[in-house]
Amino acid sequence: MIESDISLSTTIPAPAAKMVHIETWGCQMNAADSERMLALLAAQSYQLAPNAESADLVLLNTCHIREKAKHKVLSRLGVLKEIKERRPGMTIAVAGCVAQAEGSRLLKAAPQIDVLLGPGKIDELPRLLREHDASGKRAQAIGFHRHAPDPTPNLEAAPAVAPPTLTGKHEVSRYVNIQQGCNNYCTFCVVPFTRGRELSRPAAEILAESAALVAAGARELTLLGQNVNSYGSDLTTKPSFASLLRSVAALPGLERLRFTTSNPHDFTEELAELFATQPRLGRYLHLPVQSGSDSMLLRMQRKVTVASYLERIDWLRRALPDIALSTDLIVGFPGETDAEFADTMRLVEQVRFGFAFMFKYSPRKNTPAARYANQVEEKVKEDRLAQLMRLQDRITTEIHAAEIGLVRPVLFHYESSKNPGQYYGRTDHFRLVRVTSAYPLTGQVHQVRISSGNKVGLIGDLVD
Ligand code: SF4
Repeated sequence: MIESDISLSTTIPAPAAKMVHIETWGCQMNAADSERMLALLAAQSYQLAPNAESADLVLLNTCHIREKAKHKVLSRLGVLKEIKERRPGMTIAVAGCVAQAEGSRLLKAAPQIDVLLGPGKIDELPRLLREHDASGKRAQAIGFHRHAPDPTPNLEAAPAVAPPTLTGKHEVSRYVNIQQGCNNYCTFCVVPFTRGRELSRPAAEILAESAALVAAGARELTLLGQNVNSYGSDLTTKPSFASLLRSVAALPGLERLRFTTSNPHDFTEELAELFATQPRLGRYLHLPVQSGSDSMLLRMQRKVTVASYLERIDWLRRALPDIALSTDLIVGFPGETDAEFADTMRLVEQVRFGFAFMFKYSPRKNTPAARYANQVEEKVKEDRLAQLMRLQDRITTEIHAAEIGLVRPVLFHYESSKNPGQYYGRTDHFRLVRVTSAYPLTGQVHQVRISSGNKVGLIGDLVD
């Protein structure tokens, strides 16, 4: 899963009986969860508030992936406590992975929390709020749902009307959660502890939500899960992820269908071949490798070797020779030697990723790697990260330079708020493109001739 440190404040002003303000930290899964909670609240007549100060309900959807995650949440809760003292009727709810991981410790440290719920319990938010409103007592739901062997699709959970967006704006690109949790237990990762084991949503629910989003104007959908390639393996009918992709890709009006995150261990040749037959999948895939060294991959418990990872790249390039790839890389994992780090550098040179999310390893509570004895010195990690970033920047810049003069179809996502008339979109290869236009482009696909590029993205001119 692609992680980021972004904090999204969600607001649209509208008079209503109850107002909610949502703050979202972390990955796309959390952003999608926030939209889901917003949809549930909208069904209870909540409207988005312009800020926390004017909200009846403030909802923090938290992320545990970074260091000091709890610290950040407590600091924000301190500010909310002061607001609540001025507005005694205000409800404070904490959701997400910090709520799940810290549970009672968080409640003890922050008595101002009224409602606490883990990421596996977001559908219980309306019930928890009702309980809290009725009793004035704190309400909480932590833990993970397990569905019955044959879950009945909950089509109410996927309303015919598209759920509101976090920004309150009409969005071209929307997320659809297809799965919660992960069964892989990579030794560095907290996800199985905060989101539980894999739990797939029935395909009918996913299709209904996708259709509603497209009907509301979304042109691009991203199917989200921690390990989308194993989608359906926990359902009794065992629908394959490839079959789900084919069904969603067939929705009329959809321009592009993306998915993330793909664990290479579960990535099949059938999935790779879909890129040749389903043009809506575009020409891009994020396939996290983490390291280019077999011994590291073994200690990370990634269940792949460098050779099996490269085999998957071969499948993809056979299906679509110019497919663009991105990846995640960790440097300084416990015990990583200079030679093992050099293996990672070699793999990056060999595959030539379009871009990569690169991290220094940092220990996460409860994970096996945090207990490994041979932790790498901070200075060594920093040096390795800097080397790797230099290499990846060079490759990205070269790939972008090779685009100059080419004409690419670009789906435009938004107009710059700082520079009106500048529109940003993405090519089939997921490369960011900026174009200046006197006419609105958002939501449209146009042919663009690339005129320049750097390590961040491309600039071009409309040719149609
Ligand atoms: S596949 Fe590994 S890294 Fe990804 S969510 Fe699961 S445990 Fe974490």
